[in-house]
Amino acid sequence: MTDTDVLVVGGGPVGLAAAVEARRRGLDVVVLEARDGTVDKACGEGLMPGALRLLRAWDLDPAGHVLAGISYRTASGHVDHAFRGTPGRGVRRTVLHDALRALAADVGVVVVPRRAHDVRITPAGVDVDGLTARHLLACDGLHSTVRRRLGLEPASEPPTERARERVAGRRRYGLRRHYRVAPWSDLVEVHWAPHAEAYVTPVADDLVGVAVLGPRGTDLDATLAALPELADRLAGAAPASTVRGAGPLRQRATRRALGPVRLVGDASGYVDALTGEGLRVGFAQARAAVATLDDPAAYERAWRAATREYRVLTTGLVAWARSPLRPVLVPAARHLPALFGGVVERLAR
Ligand SMILES: Cc1cc2nc3c(=O)[nH]c(=O)nc-3n(C[C@H](O)[C@H](O)[C@H](O)COP(=O)(O)OP(=O)(O)OC[C@H]3O[C@@H](n4cnc5c(N)ncnc54)[C@H](O)[C@@H]3O)c2cc1C
Repeated sequence: MTDTDVLVVGGGPVGLAAAVEARRRGLDVVVLEARDGTVDKACGEGLMPGALRLLRAWDLDPAGHVLAGISYRTASGHVDHAFRGTPGRGVRRTVLHDALRALAADVGVVVVPRRAHDVRITPAGVDVDGLTARHLLACDGLHSTVRRRLGLEPASEPPTERARERVAGRRRYGLRRHYRVAPWSDLVEVHWAPHAEAYVTPVADDLVGVAVLGPRGTDLDATLAALPELADRLAGAAPASTVRGAGPLRQRATRRALGPVRLVGDASGYVDALTGEGLRVGFAQARAAVATLDDPAAYERAWRAATREYRVLTTGLVAWARSPLRPVLVPAARHLPALFGGVVERLAR
């Protein structure tokens, strides 16, 4: 006998979506969330069309601003692609979190404001700080406690000081801040600075979010100063949130399923935010995890299928962005609009 059927560690968007999915299958669900109330996070806040579709399957339609496609921009030109099917939506993280929390409460998910520390696999399932469950969904983000406590992280310490420096130099981080200004475009704009990318996502009729991705030490204001077109757009707009950061973005797990435990969302591994991805694949994983609670191998397969295109395309794009060929990335996309559009469409699904 356990305290609950499913214990979800981490009540971010993916954890709450997984909890709702499990409740809808008639399971008792408890979510442990380290933070109380509405949770904000460094995020580009672009919901791809596929993410919106998954949310609607849970009867959720959070308010935001239409996203009609993607625009890659440099000082010398830009390339745009409008989504061929339904649009995506820019949704403030706090709006998304509140919508998911309300739905979770509605369907009977119990959310406990408590950080999980100790995780053990037992004959009956799992024990997290004395709370027992038949299944554990670890949705505790990039720096997952569950992943670390269960030894599911790759041995990562490089052997030499030089190798450590090389690895540290390749790590990428994200920052974000909002500005009180009417969106000037329905496209997510990705402005390419020499060493960082600035994402602009409209999230309301009077609010845009700017997320900057780059190496350690990247400064949001300095990046904007290197992007005159974007700096002009934001000139005079009041900052509407403090700068929040996240990273390193790249995280890996040796496996996603271990007995009664499933790693889901960022906890299961993350490549980069460069393709505006995360929530769509996280929601798809949440569904797959609940559908395969008794079959670890099936979850591994479903996880691979749900993330393959994101992993391949994002890994390739990040490699290009970090290479000496970075300056020709946007010109190449401009000359090959069908290829650019094809990649965007694959990620939008
Ligand atoms: C700069 C940036 C831009 C991005 N842009 C986009 C974008 O435009 N579109 C998109 O789809 N994705 C984007 N992403 C990715 C997206 O933010 C993540 O994929 C998404 O937040 C993953 O959701 P999650 O629920 O798995 O993790 P999180 O959102 O990180 O939630 C994890 C939750 O677990 C809780 N937690 C952590 N440890 C514990 C513990 N020990 N016990 C209990 N609770 C715990 C945390 O408090 C948190 O609430 C971006 C990411 C970054 C960094």
